[in-house]
Amino acid sequence: MDIPKYVYSFGNGAAEGDASRKNLLGGKGANLAEMSRLGLPVPAGFTITTGCCTDYFAAGGNLPPSLYGEVEAALGRTEEIMGKKFGDPENPLLLSSRSGARSSMPGMMETVLNVGLASSTIPGLIARTKNERFVYDGYRRLIMMYSDVVMEKAEGIEPAEGQGIRVQLDRMMEEVKKSAGCKVDTELTAGDLKKLCEGFKVRVREVLGKEFPDDPREQLWGSIGAVFKSWNGRRAVSYRRIEGIPDDWGTAVNVQSMVFGNMGDNSATGVAFTRNPATGENKFYGEWLVNAQGEDVVAGIRTPNPLNRETKNEQNMHLKSLEEAMPEVYRQLDEIRHRLESHYRDMQDIEFTIEDGKLYMLQCRSGKRTGTAALDMALDMLKEGLISETEAVMRIEPVQLDELLHPIIDPEAEKKVQPVAKGLPAGPGGARGVIAFTAADAVSLTKAGKNVILVREETNPEDVEGMRAAKGILTARGGMTSHAALVARGWGKCCIVGAGMIHVDAKLRQMVIGDRTFREGDELTLNGTRGYVYAGELSMIDATENPRFREFMKIVDRSRTMGVRANADTAEDARIARSFGAEGIGLLRTEHMFYGAGADEPLFLLRKMILSKTTAERRAALDELFPYVKKDIKATMEAMEGLPVTVRLLDPPLHEFVPQSEEKQEELARSLGITKEDIRRRGEELHEANPMMGHRGVRLGITYPETTEMQVRAIFEAAAELLQEGKGAKPEIMVPVTCDVRELEVTKKIVDRIHSETMQKFNRKDLAYQYGTMIEIPRAALLADRMATVAEFFSFGTNDLTQMGFGFSRDDIGGFMEEYLKQGILDADPFQTIDQDGIGQLIEMSTERGRKTRAGLKVGICGEQGGDPASVEFCFKAGLDYVSCSPYRVPIARIAAAQAAIKAKGGK
Ligand code: PEP
Ligand code: MG
Repeated sequence: MDIPKYVYSFGNGAAEGDASRKNLLGGKGANLAEMSRLGLPVPAGFTITTGCCTDYFAAGGNLPPSLYGEVEAALGRTEEIMGKKFGDPENPLLLSSRSGARSSMPGMMETVLNVGLASSTIPGLIARTKNERFVYDGYRRLIMMYSDVVMEKAEGIEPAEGQGIRVQLDRMMEEVKKSAGCKVDTELTAGDLKKLCEGFKVRVREVLGKEFPDDPREQLWGSIGAVFKSWNGRRAVSYRRIEGIPDDWGTAVNVQSMVFGNMGDNSATGVAFTRNPATGENKFYGEWLVNAQGEDVVAGIRTPNPLNRETKNEQNMHLKSLEEAMPEVYRQLDEIRHRLESHYRDMQDIEFTIEDGKLYMLQCRSGKRTGTAALDMALDMLKEGLISETEAVMRIEPVQLDELLHPIIDPEAEKKVQPVAKGLPAGPGGARGVIAFTAADAVSLTKAGKNVILVREETNPEDVEGMRAAKGILTARGGMTSHAALVARGWGKCCIVGAGMIHVDAKLRQMVIGDRTFREGDELTLNGTRGYVYAGELSMIDATENPRFREFMKIVDRSRTMGVRANADTAEDARIARSFGAEGIGLLRTEHMFYGAGADEPLFLLRKMILSKTTAERRAALDELFPYVKKDIKATMEAMEGLPVTVRLLDPPLHEFVPQSEEKQEELARSLGITKEDIRRRGEELHEANPMMGHRGVRLGITYPETTEMQVRAIFEAAAELLQEGKGAKPEIMVPVTCDVRELEVTKKIVDRIHSETMQKFNRKDLAYQYGTMIEIPRAALLADRMATVAEFFSFGTNDLTQMGFGFSRDDIGGFMEEYLKQGILDADPFQTIDQDGIGQLIEMSTERGRKTRAGLKVGICGEQGGDPASVEFCFKAGLDYVSCSPYRVPIARIAAAQAAIKAKGGK
């Protein structure tokens, strides 16, 4: 077997890799190589591949033997470019070791900086830099990161909350600062830091039972192994689950020469976006800190300075911008911004360091952005001629559209109240809920059905699960580019960071703002677009009617070939669906007209029908019910303005409708002229051991044909009346839970008879309709060729098809699904996204078999998965004519369908 190449060097205007090799080099490594090739000032270094990470895990946590030689050779090249030597006592090179997966996972994995500082190199570096303070600042950072990342986390040690080595060392530093009377880290003297480092090493030995390594090479290999291990760290694993990133991708390790932002007041470090990632505005946006190292900005420890005028806001107004402080460096950075944007043709998120007035680029990647920003940037870049129409469509994650349609605080309600605090608007929209002070509390309160606002002192990627669960996030510290802000933004989550006036005490579970104290469970409302925090819960409204959204969706539809319909049961739903661009109703569940507001009377009549004993009784009840059913169907068809409406015949098990309350039972008994006892008995007779597989769907129509008759008459008369009124109507009658073509034949006879009766009654020959079936039972899927002899269309009911295909009760997966996902038995919940391996085969096969019988067979899907982007793509590939999903997901399905079509043509 060939030994793979594990190490790729970069630096000095050249590189072995490039931007196209993200899978191998990770996003960070590939882009460092690309920037190096572009001749940008990138400190030299090398990338160890993601393949090495997978081989490392496959070998039980052992590095491949050939890696050692490759790393030494690459290190030699780096040393040559930098004119320094790693571990050299006179002129030592220091290194950083950073993770970088294929797709960015901000802050989820580990980094170690200043690798190579040891008793053998410290004096030399002090002599060279003539800056003892800087050297010991670097050393204390190395000890903090290394002990945390390599000696604790990578060793699988899980200390109790607040007992981790990093927190302990942080506390020691706070104490030293206090006793030295310093407010910020930069005020600590060389002497303070030197003493601190000695104290740190003692504490590391006490807590972790091992010496902090004093050998540069041991530090290097320790940090490489730890970065690999961090791929399987708790927060990285949680993030992958949420983002659907496969476990077997692995991370690369980027070993790079250190440049120093902490060398004094002429040095700095920062993060910037080539456009504003929150609003999408084409303005350079960023934050920086003087005399600091990279992690200080993204870890959200200090509120950073603004990059330029455009980045100033209420929180950082008083701080100097880079534009003001170092105008020449800012000019260079701005030039690089333009070069990177035109090279990558996308908004870039960049990290830079200024060492003694000289600018270095440490990272660039396509930046995470809010849905609003993604949409605005795509439209702007299209207008600027930077990207094509199909590229613009591909620039938005389908789920991001969701966020554009999500609620904001009702501006009227907001006008009437004063914010209790202000922070940086890090994630858009509004959110309200009860306060939780830890990630774990946020998760458990959410599970208990509450809307939660997670309030933390600072943003910390460890909180990823709590952040995910919460409706909104509020922190006291941190800037717009902190990791947590990036992650929240990527999810379109309402988020406010750096609200300096709030004082959070997670232990006491309370937050103090001025003289007010808020406790766990108190209500809070956030305006993430403006950064305002309000006490109590304010009312919210939907943010639809956005003209740019409409403009964008027009472009989306130009690439789309598959239809998108909505599942809608009422005229109101239908109107929403239309406003979101639905091209018809793919599923109208008739039974839903018996729930909710105004349903009392029809529900009473339905119950009467169900509890009837004789056909005569049942017919009488059905006759009374008829006008209600007709009225509802007519209103929905009218709202759809002549677009097709698929009305499904009554589906659920009847016992669901049997009244439980004494009062309702009495009322029903009176109306049927029987006793309450009779009602109870008849109800009991309807009881089934397994109602999901019982007397439901088409089976009801087979046993009680008069129910089918009434429904079909209601559909046809509703349509005929609309035609009489000069309006359009395209009814499609759909039969649920069928397993055999003869069910369809028996039902069709009734449909045809009522159809001709209605045509006669209204004297209309143009009353057209289609007749079709749901495919929800595996047997129906297997016999699709026969089903298509009668059915003119199929609609996959993937809720039931998944239930019956897996043998998982759709109502009872709560007990085991989480465990199935955790143990990797299933990759995703098949009720949310189509199981393409198994259930997908049934869909492909029955589409093919059905169309063999009937070439023009129309095929769609109306299960919940119809609004899931991956499922939409699958349906496109399987050749379906349309997907149908809930009204709010229609835009998501539209863009997912367009993207599937673009991908099929080879677009990216
Ligand atoms: C289905 O089974 O996928 C379906 C759409 O029908 P219901 O959810 O009403 O059973
Ligand atoms: Mg079903």
